[in-house]
Amino acid sequence: MVTPTMEPFAYRDGRLFAEGVDLADLALAVGTPFYCYSHAHLSEQAERFDAAFAKLPHLTCFSVKACSNLAILALMARRGLGFDIVSGGELARCLAAGAAPATIVYSGVGKTAAEMKQALEAGIRCFNVESPGELDLLNQVAGELGVTAPVALRVNPDVDPQTHPYISTGMKENKFGISHREAVAEYQRAAAMANIEVVGIDCHIGSQLTSVQPFLDALDRLLALVAQLAAAGVTVRHLDLGGGLGIRYRAESPPTPAEYATPLVERILPTGLTVILEPGRVLVGNGGCFVTRVLYTKENDGKRFVIVDAGMNDLVRPTLYGAYQEILPVAAHAERPNRIVDVVGPICESGDFLARSRELVVVRPGELLAVMSAGAYGFSMASTYNTRPRVAEVMVQGERYHLIRERETVASLMAGEHIPEGV
Ligand SMILES: *Cc1c(COP(=O)(O)O)cnc(C)c1O
Repeated sequence: MVTPTMEPFAYRDGRLFAEGVDLADLALAVGTPFYCYSHAHLSEQAERFDAAFAKLPHLTCFSVKACSNLAILALMARRGLGFDIVSGGELARCLAAGAAPATIVYSGVGKTAAEMKQALEAGIRCFNVESPGELDLLNQVAGELGVTAPVALRVNPDVDPQTHPYISTGMKENKFGISHREAVAEYQRAAAMANIEVVGIDCHIGSQLTSVQPFLDALDRLLALVAQLAAAGVTVRHLDLGGGLGIRYRAESPPTPAEYATPLVERILPTGLTVILEPGRVLVGNGGCFVTRVLYTKENDGKRFVIVDAGMNDLVRPTLYGAYQEILPVAAHAERPNRIVDVVGPICESGDFLARSRELVVVRPGELLAVMSAGAYGFSMASTYNTRPRVAEVMVQGERYHLIRERETVASLMAGEHIPEGV
């Protein structure tokens, strides 16, 4: 049974809380900026998503790149989820978090021989192969190790997910996957390879999708291919539908996990196939927020700026995708007026903003702002540009909080750098 929805972040007496913890208290305890995740929300989303596919033999593989902190991976693993990885580094994270190798699938267009070896030695569940060259190399690496590599081909179904071009991955102009027109020939080649075992078929059409139709279109393409493959003598046991289910950042109304799953389950059930899902954003996006402190406010020729201690290196989505993320004052200030402002960071780039032309209550230096829906592609996309140590991550659980990642230090950023003699 899935527990009823709780709001992970809500005001109590004009102060913004994460579950039972005042974000202002957290800011004093860990400093700013920091990411804060709700244990209850993450657990609930994982359980709810997984339960939506209960009628099918299935494996829900959390997409590690959405939020890859070990504590979050451990939380997912303990709720029976597997993982979708895109690098050897992510594989190491999953294993460190206690994941069973048989629950890990490996996606990505640029796997190296070393990463293939690492994953074969670990004994992962499946490689989602994205090109003929990758298939050849995987066969060779598996041969050298004397093992067989379980493989699904990532097919590009050429459907338009109607999302931002940077996060659309399943159209023919994207770099991902193998054309659905070439898939049968490539599967026949794979099936004939000595160290490859064909186990599934895979696609991933994009991210932040807010309707079910593109998923159904992709499923139809895949099921048609499964039939063509069977006719050609190639059997697949699982269907991997990738990730991509969207969340609400502002006014979107994406399908719930159940609304997403129900029509898919209906179509897959008669096939007897196992289904693998690779959700990322939907499991963690709304379960995290990002807290920053106001440094200055200023006005240039009538344009107002709120300058905060967080930059695009800490949270890149607003500038990279033009993404809207709600910004809330940690103390509500109901008595103050609103203003149209740009919320900007300290980085030397004009693209360094968290919000542009945003209506926000008047805030003063020293006060705190919370950027909402920051659990997915927040910390995991952070960089150290401008020699800014990556921020702390905190997980709140009821009235308690856990520091799940310490703030980096400048010393740790410089470690490994060397000044040669005579430079
Ligand atoms: C990023 C990614 C996902 C997760 O996407 P979300 O939109 O976060 O659900 C799943 N599968 C693959 C192959 C990906 O690259």
